[in-house]
Amino acid sequence: MTVTGIRGLPLIQKGDNLPRLIIDKCALEDGDIICIASTIISKAKGYTRHLKDIIPGNRATHIAEKTGEDPRFIQVVLDQACDVLIETPFTLTEVSCGHVGVRSGVDASNVEDGLVITLPPDPMNEAEEIRKELNNLIGKSCGVIVTDTCGRSFRRGQTGHAIGWSGMSAIRDFRGDNDLFGRTLEITEEAVVDEIAGFANLVMGESNNGVPAVLFRGIPAWSGHDEIYFKPDEDIIRKALKKV
Ligand code: GDP
Ligand code: MN
Ligand code: MN
Ligand code: MN
Repeated sequence: MTVTGIRGLPLIQKGDNLPRLIIDKCALEDGDIICIASTIISKAKGYTRHLKDIIPGNRATHIAEKTGEDPRFIQVVLDQACDVLIETPFTLTEVSCGHVGVRSGVDASNVEDGLVITLPPDPMNEAEEIRKELNNLIGKSCGVIVTDTCGRSFRRGQTGHAIGWSGMSAIRDFRGDNDLFGRTLEITEEAVVDEIAGFANLVMGESNNGVPAVLFRGIPAWSGHDEIYFKPDEDIIRKALKKV
């Protein structure tokens, strides 16, 4: 397998055509997987907010007093949230696509002062749109994963997570396979899109690398399903958080 950061992309502006910019910088082949930082998808689509335009409501003001953050920033976080799991010591929310993240994934890094980036509301659709456009432009069939850097429960340190994908299933399902000793696997489902997103995040870096897209070549195809988010009744951590 090879993993290659796509260098030389410009600072992305609203209206930019990401598939065109990407094919200018690398020669794609059938079966390639492109990871793209959600940050540049949001910039290209204009999913950003000017803090100066935000008037914080009571809840945002109240949370911001406790966390010491800018109440306008928290208002954006609440605007993005369809469910607030915890408010302190940081806001942990679910956004409309089902992703659960700290501060709704609202991000003030790698963007001009005073502007914040929100996650694309439908990252699955963003991935599909980019995959189809790549196919239209160059006739190659590639997979696309939209990534964001996220914190994790129980462990310090952020990693890349997949928030949208197209051209693959999220999960490789090992259930029913036999292990080395012939024992049938009953629960193993591997979140392959997150593993790839994690490696992509390593290549992207978090600061000023300027590498918002990463090309994976030679990953063998897998099959499984897309049910990466627990349903509310299966989600024991969410239930526990809601109790406190
Ligand atoms: P996030 O994980 O989606 O929040 O994205 P990050 O802010 O961590 O950025 C990931 C990578 O993309 C880093 O290497 C950034 O320097 C780079 N990056 C972010 N925005 C741009 C951009 O507009 N143009 C280019 N060329 N790189 C960018
Ligand atoms: Mn960022
Ligand atoms: Mn981010
Ligand atoms: Mn990042």
